[in-house]
Amino acid sequence: MLLDGAEVLLLCSNNYLGLADHPRVRQAAGEAAERLGAGAGASRLISGTMALHRKLEGRLAEFEGAEASLLFGSGYLANLGTISALAGSGGIVFSDELNHASIVDGCRLARADTFVYRHCDIDHLAHGLEQAGDRAKLIVTDGVFSMDGDVAPLVELVELARRHDAMLVVDEAHGTGALGPGGRGAVAAAGLSGEVDVIVGTLGKALGSYGAYVCSSREVVELLVNTSRPFIYSTAPPPPSVGAALAALSLLAARPGLVEQLRRNAATLREELHAQGLGSSSSRTQIVPVIVGDARRATALCERTLEGGVFAQAIRPPTVPVGSSRLRLTVMASHRADELRAAARVIGGAARDLGLGDRGDQAAATTFRRAA
Ligand SMILES: *Cc1c(COP(=O)(O)O)cnc(C)c1O
Repeated sequence: MLLDGAEVLLLCSNNYLGLADHPRVRQAAGEAAERLGAGAGASRLISGTMALHRKLEGRLAEFEGAEASLLFGSGYLANLGTISALAGSGGIVFSDELNHASIVDGCRLARADTFVYRHCDIDHLAHGLEQAGDRAKLIVTDGVFSMDGDVAPLVELVELARRHDAMLVVDEAHGTGALGPGGRGAVAAAGLSGEVDVIVGTLGKALGSYGAYVCSSREVVELLVNTSRPFIYSTAPPPPSVGAALAALSLLAARPGLVEQLRRNAATLREELHAQGLGSSSSRTQIVPVIVGDARRATALCERTLEGGVFAQAIRPPTVPVGSSRLRLTVMASHRADELRAAARVIGGAARDLGLGDRGDQAAATTFRRAA
């Protein structure tokens, strides 16, 4: 791609499967605009609901193996609207400390209390659940963690949720299109389809469009329709986005090879970074962080890397905990293996130039992060 006129390798897009610019997806967006307009004109409960919205909701429910599904304006709004609607006063939301900002804000908006458990720490969560007694409980987690690329311990979470009569919400923003059979996500990859109470997903990442969805039982979806304020008080998703997402879902079903290619590419980048003495050992996915620690050093690594023709973003606090600044790399299915290997060498060279990049450095950063 071109960045300010210079050719660079894009390693920080969530358009994992290249569907955002696939000809069929573009065409579907155009056709929806021609046929139905650029905007929906009103919120869903006024006059904004079109057959196209219902069709996408049906497809998404089928895709996730759920009874029902509901569209939201974005993943951010879906998390805000789901957590605040499902966690009322008197209840407790149990949230992983590295959950996405939209989940954190959903907890803030909910009338329930919040218990933040240590990252993927099942014992800490179990302890919190025990303390909660018979209060209403909701556990919420990223399926794939957006800044680390690791996967939540979903089997244990499902088991704990059952044992403590808690509702479980999994955010598949980075799992959809990337993990599991047919790109059905982290929950499907763990063999748990149909076992998680609520799935939140975005249309804005692997599905190449904009908007988001919640999949759950009919009862929960009905509750959201009637009480979720970001759903009720916001304009329905625009037809071009809905049409594009429908086309992307069809392509995903028709081309499971894309998901395979993404997986292979992610493995290639992780291996090649490891060979350079870099790359977080916890990543299992297409999100691969190179933990640096200090924010200024992360920015310096980003700039050096860009000089070498590789575009990846430095991520700093408050997006990640203090002391865990990083270069966050995201792989796409369209990358070639040789491009990824060359990129890893560029990053490795830049890290060495800056005196980073031995494993000791990274281990220190990781320890610091856990302590923070
Ligand atoms: C990106 C992201 C969101 C927000 O989705 P948008 O559709 O971009 O608003 C929510 N959760 C996680 C884990 C994300 O990474």
